[in-house]
Amino acid sequence: LIEVAHLKKNFGKHEVLKDINLTVDKGEVLTIIGASGSGKSTLLRNINLLERPTSGDIRFHGKSILQPHFDIPKYRAEVGMVFQQFNLFSNLNVLDNCVVGQTTVLKRDKAEAEEIAKKQLAKVGMGPYIQAKPAQLSGGQQQRVAIARAVCMDPEALLFDEPTSALDPEMVDEVLDTMKQLAKTGLTMIVVTHEMAFAHDVSDQVVFMKDGVLAEKGTPDQIFNHPQEAATQHFLKRYT
Ligand code: ATP
Ligand code: MG
Repeated sequence: LIEVAHLKKNFGKHEVLKDINLTVDKGEVLTIIGASGSGKSTLLRNINLLERPTSGDIRFHGKSILQPHFDIPKYRAEVGMVFQQFNLFSNLNVLDNCVVGQTTVLKRDKAEAEEIAKKQLAKVGMGPYIQAKPAQLSGGQQQRVAIARAVCMDPEALLFDEPTSALDPEMVDEVLDTMKQLAKTGLTMIVVTHEMAFAHDVSDQVVFMKDGVLAEKGTPDQIFNHPQEAATQHFLKRYT
């Protein structure tokens, strides 16, 4: 579904991504782990076109997303993103946060969009909060709204950039549980996380990034129980 081929990204002279190659099939969950500064967010931001690659290609359904006149808003509905800092619209209530993308990008009428939003918000346990503003919610609640908002767009894939890193520890599980439910529905997911137990349980593939390179790639069992690279072994020691 998503292919990254020979992707490079430089910021000035700094090579942040160096020849990244990966493929994510429909329905797969790919987890990206690695140290701070290794390029994980930059990789996701390139896949979501928040950054443009310096060279290489990214394909969705076999077609380059870097082609001229590519419909970026439509693509961002198909491949949504959930951020560490939630990025909800602070001036809109929970329901409207989930409606606005549907009406503007997907051209759904408001009544239909509200119905879909209410259904998705109920699924993440946010049904009672549809009138609340983001500032009135806990971090875990805001993140569940952000996930519902992305799901309302009927995405084929969702990208998650450390979705639980900004949360108090007691709120991490409610967000991880929401993501596990989504994975079970067959949604394609690319997840940057430091939650190794989650990565072990839900991933089809795990990649370890180091200094802008995919240093190791494998199944959760290969990466967590039998890492081959010294760098992977060293990194994982901090989490066991
Ligand atoms: P973390 O775990 O801390 O989120 P990360 O793996 O997501 O780290 P990135 O945020 O992708 O790492 O950053 C990789 C490198 O690219 C870092 O050295 C960072 O300083 C640099 N970088 C990222 N974005 C920019 C930018 N817009 N301009 C210049 N340098 C950047
Ligand atoms: Mg990051």
